Amino acid sequence: SDIGSQKDRVVTEAEWLQKWEMGNIGFHKEQGHPLLQKYLDVLLNGRSGLRIFFPLCGKAVEMKWLADMGHYIVGVEVSEKALKEFFAEHGVPYHEEPVPEISGAKKLQSTSGNISLYCCNIYDLSSSIVAQFDGAWDRGALVAVNPCDRQRYVNLMITLMKKNSSYLLATVSYDPNKHKGPPFYVPESEIKSLFG
Ligand code: SAH
Repeated sequence: SDIGSQKDRVVTEAEWLQKWEMGNIGFHKEQGHPLLQKYLDVLLNGRSGLRIFFPLCGKAVEMKWLADMGHYIVGVEVSEKALKEFFAEHGVPYHEEPVPEISGAKKLQSTSGNISLYCCNIYDLSSSIVAQFDGAWDRGALVAVNPCDRQRYVNLMITLMKKNSSYLLATVSYDPNKHKGPPFYVPESEIKSLFG
């Protein structure tokens, strides 16, 4: 029944920005995610120099891991503070530029060009702006999307992926009657129907 009550719950953009302002970011993993390490081979599948997408990226340290392995990283995140902290905490120099196609959006790009982080709402992106990806790391992304936007999010992600790409999705299995988050419960059956 609580899955039902979650369906209408919404976390607004303003609430996310406020979490970053307050440093209320318990979701951030300083050490990176063990599941990415575990399934790295599935993501890369023997390929090098991949374009890898991080939806709702926060300041995920995995972006630095994969960039250091020679891959090209594109992330999207509404909080500019998160993105600036990412570059600062890894000592990566960057520059900022506007994104002509999206009013108010900015792209923060490492000087060496291998990490491009869009500061905007993910729903403003399209394949004509960021092109398509060989891989995606979806952690704290599908589960953070408001339930009413899930299908829209998945449809967008599908248009951003190349044929033969790999999409690693991390969700959390728990009893939604006992725990409220993080922040939304996505059952496996729904993952199957969303992605088809
Ligand atoms: N994937 C990251 C962050 C997970 S928390 C990690 O693993 O640490 C979800 C993040 O998505 C937050 O930083 C929030 O600010 C951002 N966010 C939420 N809705 C968004 C949207 N519609 N577009 C872009 N970013 C969004």
